[in-house]
Amino acid sequence: MPELPEVETIRRVLYPQILGASIEKIEVLESRLRSPIPANLPSLLRHRRVVELQRHGKYLFFILDQDWVWLQHLGMTGKIFLQAPEDKPEQHLIFSMGLDNGLSLRYHDARRFGYLKIASEKEIHAALHLGPDSLLANPDLSFWKELKQRHVKSIKSVLMDQSLIAGIGNIYANEILACAGIHPQRSLAEIDESSLSRLKRSIRKVLLEAIRFQGSSVSDYYVSAGKKGRFQERFLVYSRDGAPCRTCATKIVAVKEHGRNSFFCPRCQR
Ligand SMILES: [Zn+2]
Repeated sequence: MPELPEVETIRRVLYPQILGASIEKIEVLESRLRSPIPANLPSLLRHRRVVELQRHGKYLFFILDQDWVWLQHLGMTGKIFLQAPEDKPEQHLIFSMGLDNGLSLRYHDARRFGYLKIASEKEIHAALHLGPDSLLANPDLSFWKELKQRHVKSIKSVLMDQSLIAGIGNIYANEILACAGIHPQRSLAEIDESSLSRLKRSIRKVLLEAIRFQGSSVSDYYVSAGKKGRFQERFLVYSRDGAPCRTCATKIVAVKEHGRNSFFCPRCQR
């Protein structure tokens, strides 16, 4: 599933070509996403200009003129590309938007868990219940100390709870905890202040480095048509069970919890 670094990479790729463009021709080929695409999507978006493209957590916010926002979540397998109209669309094309700059913005989604909503900015933020963005907000130590008072659950499940802190999923929760030297099953409540400081620094370090390598192409994620991210080559622990730890050569262990794998070095992560 695309997480913060993948969504931020897509935002940076789209940004220079979509800013200021007006949406002209909207074709919906498949309306069954996580919730159905509204039947009036073409009339809602036609002649709307993209004035800004923002991101919060794993969501893209296409800010349109006249106070409209098109919110897009990529679900498990969503891919969004800007292409020339003559380029052959990929499989599982959901919708295509012809822009006045001659390009087509195309959304593909094999498993159709993606989500789209058109509303005012205020309505969208009220509906989402997202915690601060884990990169842009750069939550400080007092944020973590305050969370620690309220949460006894594992540090990994706190990192992945979008209502507490937005943008981190299973891949980056594993990588951040490996970078910080914290065992994924530890309760947030029992983590001391120096570990919290390491956690805070590791969030920033891992997310920024993943963006630098254009995200992790472990399943369906592509930066643009045919182009993969490269951060998966640098994983410390994710999907590396049985392989040697990059620091101490101990074998990386995988443990399944709530249907999700946690990967860690039993020696470096306490
Ligand atoms: Zn190790």
